[in-house]
Amino acid sequence: MKKHNFYAGPSILPQYTIRNTADAILNFADTGLSVLEVSHRSKEFQAVIDEAMALVKELLEVPEGYSVLFLGGGASMQFCMVPYNLLGRKASYLDTGTWASNAIKEARLFGEVDVAASSREANYTYIPKDYTVAPDSDYFHFTTNNTIYGTEMRYDPTLPVRLVADMSSDIFSRPVDVSKYDIIYAGAQKNLAPAGVTLVIVRDEALGHVDRAIPTMLDYRTHIKKGSMFNTPPVLPIYSALQTLRYYKELGGLRAIEKMDLDKASVLYDAIDSSRMFQGTVTDPADRSIMNVCFVMTPEYKELEKDFVDFAATKGIVGIKGHRSVGGFRASLYNAMPIESVRVLVDAMKEFESKH
Ligand SMILES: *Cc1c(COP(=O)(O)O)cnc(C)c1O
Repeated sequence: MKKHNFYAGPSILPQYTIRNTADAILNFADTGLSVLEVSHRSKEFQAVIDEAMALVKELLEVPEGYSVLFLGGGASMQFCMVPYNLLGRKASYLDTGTWASNAIKEARLFGEVDVAASSREANYTYIPKDYTVAPDSDYFHFTTNNTIYGTEMRYDPTLPVRLVADMSSDIFSRPVDVSKYDIIYAGAQKNLAPAGVTLVIVRDEALGHVDRAIPTMLDYRTHIKKGSMFNTPPVLPIYSALQTLRYYKELGGLRAIEKMDLDKASVLYDAIDSSRMFQGTVTDPADRSIMNVCFVMTPEYKELEKDFVDFAATKGIVGIKGHRSVGGFRASLYNAMPIESVRVLVDAMKEFESKH
């Protein structure tokens, strides 16, 4: 049976990426060797990382003065690397979910943290809007897409301080004005590649302003100087990332991808809004994520939630169980998700509703 993969991460990747990665595991760039067993300093792999960096710059229109890095450690490593490199005295954070609050916890190890606003008391069902950022903050950190709670900031705010964003789960889903940011980071396993590599885009000029000693591996300047080759980079995920980036370019770039993503999300949100059995969990429609759609059953049908997961599985639908802190369902509609799979889910919802 055809499977429809709605997992939140690791998650669906383009077939193009998976096939080309499989091919390169057998024979990489006509070397007669697997990409798994070739030196990262070989000219063949150097070409991979060079092209991947160039495509990130092209797709996101990264201006001059920025470096693109491929690092290990996941997005969670960036929670400490950002303050290590940027936090002198004080930083501001927006608390919009679990990942944001994990980032806040790490930053507190390095200095004063001002939480500009938090929606925690409402179980993160909205994005706070009326907040001010202390102008003496070294930077303002926010999470563009809250993977667990299904809220998203699909815009680049204008604020009087440096911006740092965790874009792990919505990078490459819209054009971004990179010039507004000092650091953008994203774990690969949602919209880019298998887990193991983290994309970081950093404004070179933002570095070198803190007094503390920074361990070599945690200093962005180490990786900038060595082109992400200070130590062995995550070779296979970078190879896969290159395939995904080529595929995104082929699709017409981020404007084209954004349009497809918006269309997919509206198919599902429309079904939720017109249903008597299902309801969305995000309170302000403006905050709804187009990557992770969170919904539950109305109180009247609540006890049928587990049955629906089982019913959906009979249609090949995988990975729609909501995160334990929200419950219900979460359908992740990353870039690689075809609209046909969204329609299969919507049809399953309608069929289930008509049966009960
Ligand atoms: C998945 C995710 C993370 C954690 O990524 P790791 O690579 O597992 O550390 C952080 N932030 C966001 C927004 C995420 O979706």
